[in-house]
Amino acid sequence: MARIPLIGHADQMAMFRRALQRGRTAHAYLLVGSDGIGKRQFARVVAQCLFCRETDDAELAACGECSACKQVAAGSHPDLLTAGCPEGKKELPIEVMVGSRERRGREGLCHDLSLRPMSATRRIAIIDDADKMNEASANALLKTLEEPPEGSILFLLTPSRDAILATIQSRCQPIQFAPLSADQVATLLVEQELETDEAAAKEVAALSEGSLTTARQLLEPGLRKLREALYAGLSEKDFNSLRTLKSVSEALDNLGGDPAAQRQNARWLVKFAVEFYRGVLVASLEDRIPLHPQMLALARMLPDDQPQYTDRLMAMMERCFEAERHLDQSMSIELSLEGLFDDLGRLWRGAVVV
Ligand SMILES: [Zn+2]
Repeated sequence: MARIPLIGHADQMAMFRRALQRGRTAHAYLLVGSDGIGKRQFARVVAQCLFCRETDDAELAACGECSACKQVAAGSHPDLLTAGCPEGKKELPIEVMVGSRERRGREGLCHDLSLRPMSATRRIAIIDDADKMNEASANALLKTLEEPPEGSILFLLTPSRDAILATIQSRCQPIQFAPLSADQVATLLVEQELETDEAAAKEVAALSEGSLTTARQLLEPGLRKLREALYAGLSEKDFNSLRTLKSVSEALDNLGGDPAAQRQNARWLVKFAVEFYRGVLVASLEDRIPLHPQMLALARMLPDDQPQYTDRLMAMMERCFEAERHLDQSMSIELSLEGLFDDLGRLWRGAVVV
């Protein structure tokens, strides 16, 4: 069975189906929403449904068995064109749209889209990273949007509408995509065998902000080690802030990366801390099982008759939010984290931090 699975986005699918039934599909759609929530998957599913040899277009369904369905699933259907930012590049260059200078207009996505379909009744193009088009590539694409080949459908993927030139926007019908729910991300992680342990999948999903891309990053060994080092320190009843800072700093160093990546990893560290304290609070106040066993272990160590621990945990979360702001305001990573752990240690011991 080669039917492409789609989790979530049922409303968007229903809207597209209605448009097909009324014969009112647009030539170009702007799929708007953060990375890793399923915009590309949505476009691929639509392509599979429209190319399927066993179903009518208006059903917006795919049999998953015919040759067309199999080709779309395998990424080899001759009428499904894809383009995106070349690996390691920050812009989507004009060559991708209309070919190199020597072969301008004789290759590239716009050229390929104008050719007669090879096996389906139309051609469909998916443009990843549409927000990364520069002026030249956007203008090249605009010509195609102004005179789209008959029956063709273009999907432009972008995290935000603002990143797209107004002239392009005005020729595309926008479809907004919401982040996935944590449960949906967890299901995807297990289904795609990115994480086999269900509890671990849920833990990562809770941090993913509804993005499978983010969840995958969190599963990388370096970030996992960072989280483990932090949780090991935070879950001790005699929380040793200096020792914990040392071990998380080592884990951060091991992650390496350019300054932007380092800052992003430090942000993750702070988010992990917030998630940890949230888990402890949930376990101690609401008696719910938190996502991670170490959160539960610490919650169980807290004496029931001393509600000041709740205040301390809240104050520690607040302090983490402040650290996030420091990192956003480009305070040095070292200083932000030193200040954070210093204060977390004192707050945990019951001191008032001004
Ligand atoms: Zn089929």
